[in-house]
Amino acid sequence: MKPAPFVRHVPKTLDEALRILAEVAPKDGRVLAGGQSLVPIMAFRLARPAHLVDINEVADLDKITSDGETLSVRACVRHAAFHKSVVENPLGRLLSVVARHVAHFPIRVRGTFCGSLAHADPASEWCLVAATLDATLVARSTRGERLIAARDFFAGIMSTALVEDELLAEARLPLLSTDAKFGFNEFSRRAGDFAMAASLVTYRLQAGKIVDARVGVGGAEPRPRRIAEAEASLDGKVPGDSSFRAAAEAAATAIDPLEDHQTNAEYRRDLVRAVVRRALEQSQP
Ligand SMILES: Cc1cc2nc3c(=O)[nH]c(=O)nc-3n(C[C@H](O)[C@H](O)[C@H](O)COP(=O)(O)OP(=O)(O)OC[C@H]3O[C@@H](n4cnc5c(N)ncnc54)[C@H](O)[C@@H]3O)c2cc1C
Repeated sequence: MKPAPFVRHVPKTLDEALRILAEVAPKDGRVLAGGQSLVPIMAFRLARPAHLVDINEVADLDKITSDGETLSVRACVRHAAFHKSVVENPLGRLLSVVARHVAHFPIRVRGTFCGSLAHADPASEWCLVAATLDATLVARSTRGERLIAARDFFAGIMSTALVEDELLAEARLPLLSTDAKFGFNEFSRRAGDFAMAASLVTYRLQAGKIVDARVGVGGAEPRPRRIAEAEASLDGKVPGDSSFRAAAEAAATAIDPLEDHQTNAEYRRDLVRAVVRRALEQSQP
């Protein structure tokens, strides 16, 4: 099928994009970034936006910068930008490990980091990264700028705190401590498919014991989130099979699993147990 008719606007500056978005949002206008989620949905006529605000020619939206404390990823930065480390910090390596799990290469060349966050698929790897690392999301509109904590940003399946005339201009990810350990694991039936469960973990070691543990789970619930029970079970423990299994069990118990035509709750709990344990195992040299 072909998309329903629409008008495409091609602003050259952010202010112009925000002005157009304010005007067309009430008439079912939407932002077009990489188009890797929106265009297929339009082609199936599951969405029929009358206006698209194409931000691909807006100056400077493809920039990644760091102020030494955070990494700023602007709205048109593609998934593929992270194939190589973008910052001299463990975060750079973490992002390049995760990037290779996002869809397939041609999609990574077009699709954007912020587009994934705005689309808010529960299985999105970047949404999991934002939730686990407590990213700050920068929403812009003609009314100004609004900073939204990741835990408040993801509202549910494909639903966020953005209002219709807001553009996600930037995602700010905190840099990791230089001695941070991390691990990522996801399960999908075929390479490149959306994950049925995924986990990102980070922590540091102090005198051989785990501190500052973060355990994020995605793809298993309507939105990705940190699992406090798993983090608490790791803090102060020596990394290894027994502490990792205990944390994985805590995560599997704590989640309220999604069910769909492929999986029931019990199966997804098993997946969460497996991906958390594997992510923790990968965190070790
Ligand atoms: C076959 C296939 C497999 C895929 N597999 C995966 C996968 O494994 N993991 C994964 O995470 N993704 C996957 N994707 C989705 C892909 O990563 C998309 O690129 C991403 O979800 C959306 O980014 P985009 O830039 O393409 O956004 P678009 O498709 O342009 O937009 C998506 C939605 O977000 C809104 N939007 C986009 N940018 C902004 C912004 N800056 N501000 C406000 N609203 C905005 C749009 O209005 C639209 O509603 C897959 C896609 C396909 C087609």
